[in-house]
Amino acid sequence: MRRVVGSISSEIVVSRDGLLYCGICKRGTFTKRGLYLHLLRVHRDEILEMVEEKSRRIKRFYSGLYNG
Ligand SMILES: [Zn+2]
Repeated sequence: MRRVVGSISSEIVVSRDGLLYCGICKRGTFTKRGLYLHLLRVHRDEILEMVEEKSRRIKRFYSGLYNG
């Protein structure tokens, strides 16, 4: 689960020249805390969906490995 969230955070957080931008709506710049709050307020549902979609994909991947 930690890996799922990590791979998503690299998609939703854009950092350029030490400044942080939102990878979903491209707004910025934010401080670390500001971006975190922005993501929670504006993109909470989208992020939850991304997490679910990713973990579904990972589950499929692993069950494929085990089942041949
Ligand atoms: Zn945003």
